[in-house]
Amino acid sequence: MFLSAETHSIPLSDGNHIPLLGLGTYGDPRITRKGTALECVKLAIDVGYRHFDGALVYFNEHEVGQAIREKIADGTVRREDIFYCGKLWNTFHSPELVRPALERTLKALKLDYVDLYIVELPMAFKPGKEFYPKDNDGKYIYHPTNLCATWEVECHPYFTQPKLLKYCHQNDIVIVGYCPLGSSRDASWVNLKCAPLLEDELLKSIGKKYNKTSAQVALRFNVQRGVVVIPKSFSPERIKHNFQIFNFSLTDDEMKAIEGLNKNIRFVELPMWSDHPEYPFHDEY
Ligand code: NDP
Repeated sequence: MFLSAETHSIPLSDGNHIPLLGLGTYGDPRITRKGTALECVKLAIDVGYRHFDGALVYFNEHEVGQAIREKIADGTVRREDIFYCGKLWNTFHSPELVRPALERTLKALKLDYVDLYIVELPMAFKPGKEFYPKDNDGKYIYHPTNLCATWEVECHPYFTQPKLLKYCHQNDIVIVGYCPLGSSRDASWVNLKCAPLLEDELLKSIGKKYNKTSAQVALRFNVQRGVVVIPKSFSPERIKHNFQIFNFSLTDDEMKAIEGLNKNIRFVELPMWSDHPEYPFHDEY
């Protein structure tokens, strides 16, 4: 598979294409300055990113949409050049709420369509205005759901997902791996028992050979095996840096060595919801 900054999309079975590298857009709304996502997505489009991973619950979808629209208006891209993934939040799982939730996303984006709409988590919460509904004891209020667990694909060198990847390849299913850099390590929702992925000595030493960082090696590893990655960065330098993965390639031995790093470490365990009947991570994938 030839990968370049301009050509790194892979086909989907419906005839559409998905770029292997996308920009993740989740930043903690309590500490992220307003306008950050707007600036970062515009910069990312200038750098060459064409795939954006967003969600209603990130509370910045209006900025992401504005950035895309401004870059269409100034002639940098056309709408059809962009791949946008939106997500159905837990309080909208009831069938009659799905369409209004998608329409809310489209209204925030001020776009006519999204390219992909996924169930963010299989765990439904009580519908209503609150995105994180809790009872008087501070306990999350769940909601019964019949959804199949369709969301579970964290993917990086410490969680390489060999079984799932094999199944998906055999069945023509493309995997999108979130947390491809080992996540933001936010203690409120990330498992910090494992050392940071980007400090891994093997990733660093392979990177040295190509004058690349451990982050670029981790991203290259996944795109080279056909896994879409959506690293999040709101730092202009790192947005550019994470795009510089199409001017080198890893040897077969290096790919194997990185596969060997797998520790079955899931950084996003979401233990606060582990008693939900649809909690997905009790199962093996
Ligand atoms: P990532 O693995 O993408 O890591 C992001 C963190 O790494 C940020 O703290 C970022 O900081 C930092 N970073 C970015 N680039 C570099 C670099 N080159 N070197 C060192 N540090 C770097 O984790 P995320 O959890 O953000 O996952 C990515 C995206 O996946 C999310 O933003 C979201 O869009 C999506 N996601 C989807 C889920 C779902 O569908 N259910 C669940 C979880 C995530 P900085 O911004 O300062 O650069």
